[in-house]
Amino acid sequence: MTDPAPAFSAADTEQVNCCLCGDTGTSVYELPPYGVRRCARCTLVFVSPRLRAQALSRFYDQVDYFECGVYGDQTGWSPAMALQRLWTSGRLNRIAKARSTRDSNARLGRPADGQRLLEFGSGYGLFLAAARDRGYDVQGVELSHPAAQQTAKLGLDVYCGQLVDAPLDGPYDVICGWDTLEHVPNPLAVLRRIRELVADDGTVAMSTPYFSSLPSRLLRKRWWTLKPTEHIWHYTPYTLRLLAARAGFTVTDVIRSPLAPANLTRLDSLVILLRPA
Ligand SMILES: [Zn+2]
Repeated sequence: MTDPAPAFSAADTEQVNCCLCGDTGTSVYELPPYGVRRCARCTLVFVSPRLRAQALSRFYDQVDYFECGVYGDQTGWSPAMALQRLWTSGRLNRIAKARSTRDSNARLGRPADGQRLLEFGSGYGLFLAAARDRGYDVQGVELSHPAAQQTAKLGLDVYCGQLVDAPLDGPYDVICGWDTLEHVPNPLAVLRRIRELVADDGTVAMSTPYFSSLPSRLLRKRWWTLKPTEHIWHYTPYTLRLLAARAGFTVTDVIRSPLAPANLTRLDSLVILLRPA
């Protein structure tokens, strides 16, 4: 996949610190005008300097960010779309399994009729549409205008902007974010907002690349998922647990296997499930 980023200069960037500790971090990689840094206290990896919010919006509003970068060819049964469908059903199944002890419908394998599901970073709305088909009442939040417009065409309710700014009314039974937490300006603020929005017996499910994965460790600066324009936080299972705890969550599952349907073929990404602590 090619990175469709327009050229940005140092004037489009800002310095940031670790969202957990306020630490300025120590340099891991220099990728001008960006830098990849690791917090000396908690080991969370982040991009600084990184794009300012305004430059970032410009980046996500390019139609070809999703067309080329995320979904590829959307016609029917392209390999990229087939994988999206496998991930979607694998993830909905994992969520149902996680909820099976508290929800009798899920235990019986029936759809989650009337349960509320919110997705942040809902892209073109493909996961939301599948969740709706399973019986959830769904809502999405998406920063990209072209993607949000596409989602609305599917008859789905989507707010265009950042989750922390969205006028939402909880509680939601399930809140999901697929490959989104590495993109948000402040992941601690996002998880704290999710804690406000999710039911006390709710489930949060997310996927993200991870910095301690084999491809990241072997390929270093050449890791295809490093993408410092857009991936501005890099996690490990350890730092995800720290972040979750600071926002009031407990991690219940970490799925790293590239053979698990929820994470199929993904050598450098994981799926994580949380519940309110
Ligand atoms: Zn830190």
